[in-house]
Amino acid sequence: MTNAFAPKPGRISNSLDDFWMPFTANRQFKANPRLLESAEGMYFTSADGRKVLDGTAGLWCCNAGHGRREITEAVSRQIAKLDFAPTFQMGHPLPFELAERLADVAPKGLNKVFFTNSGSESADTALKIALAYQRAIGQGTRTRLIGRELGYHGVGFGGISVGGMVNNRKAFPALLPNVDHLPHTLDIQRNAFSRGLPEFGIEKADELERLVTLHGAENIAAVIVEPMSGSAGVILPPVGYLQRLREITRKHGILLIFDEVITGFGRVGQAFAAQRWGVTPDIITCAKGLTNGAIPMGAVFVAEDIYQAFMQGPESAIEFFHGYTYSGHPVACAAALATLDIYQGERLFERTIELEGYWQDALLSLKELPNVIDIRAVGLVGGVQLAPSAEGVGKRGFQVFEQCFHTGVMVRVTGDTIAMSPPLIVEKEQIDILVGKLADSIRKAA
Ligand code: PMP
Repeated sequence: MTNAFAPKPGRISNSLDDFWMPFTANRQFKANPRLLESAEGMYFTSADGRKVLDGTAGLWCCNAGHGRREITEAVSRQIAKLDFAPTFQMGHPLPFELAERLADVAPKGLNKVFFTNSGSESADTALKIALAYQRAIGQGTRTRLIGRELGYHGVGFGGISVGGMVNNRKAFPALLPNVDHLPHTLDIQRNAFSRGLPEFGIEKADELERLVTLHGAENIAAVIVEPMSGSAGVILPPVGYLQRLREITRKHGILLIFDEVITGFGRVGQAFAAQRWGVTPDIITCAKGLTNGAIPMGAVFVAEDIYQAFMQGPESAIEFFHGYTYSGHPVACAAALATLDIYQGERLFERTIELEGYWQDALLSLKELPNVIDIRAVGLVGGVQLAPSAEGVGKRGFQVFEQCFHTGVMVRVTGDTIAMSPPLIVEKEQIDILVGKLADSIRKAA
């Protein structure tokens, strides 16, 4: 019905009818489609031939920018050499090599790597490892999992159970049992427009002590949080908050899991947020930037002692009944290795720290614009929160998002918060363009 593509030779269909789009208002999209056809460096080219500055690294994943020849060549070489090999009771060299390389980049001690295909799979894998680990060390009563309000851990049943975004949960009444949520750390009243990490809110971590008192530490397996909530609109951890969570979890034998699907691979200025903010959890999940978004892949980093707890039975026994057909897929591994080479060769994580001040100044310059009620920025990620319009939550945000796209910059919108996370190769002039066009769009929406 809708014909949004220019007809091209060899294309079977010009229809937008049959793809059920994820996390999208499908009918609205089809009436006003935004289609991207190619990408290079910092820019997409839209189907109608316009250049669109990528202010979001795709979906927080193309940290090294688009069309990286090193990655595409590695992928095509690998697919020709070994397109697939099982990793169940078989193997091939690449995931071993990649795991070793990743262990060097990860926080010290998190040196065992389980491969998945996405952030959702990484989250569910981490929760399963936590539960199975507690059983393996004779702590089988520890079955309770604790997430956080506004947390996002993908869309698997484990992830939405510990996650705290109401729209992702409400159609599914039978989630995992034995789950609690800590309060979120967004506090505009006290922390609006703070530069870097917000000053107030460390006490929100003490809610964990309350849950321990309520349930007994011997019943709690793990706490999972994003060190910085991305999908809920760039919510930063208050100063000292992650340290406090670490102290309380350690004191009570509770595992601490950081979901670093967004913060992993340089977004906040070091390989992982755990390093940037000086807190080492027991498990880290990642995906996205692992392959620069070019091939789906995720990973779960696990502390040595957790891994060793699984290695105690008979040698012939499978230690962990879990895995995916595509765990350690050769083509994904090749993409990840080439991606790591770029990150390290171009010092992109260090570059993020170097640009952080410029990025924060640029975003905070929007402070006086109409309806801007908070700005949060760290590393090369930021959120500009707008007051909801009288028409309802999310309307103004969406209007700004659409207007930005129309004027040639891609941002993300969650409710009325505009989130940005440009590729880490971004230049200062491109930050100016991004922020300038966002400012115009906010003014226009006012
Ligand atoms: N965890 C976090 C923190 C995420 O931001 C996301 C995706 N935005 C996921 C998990 C899920 O990842 P995926 O969409 O690859 O399943």
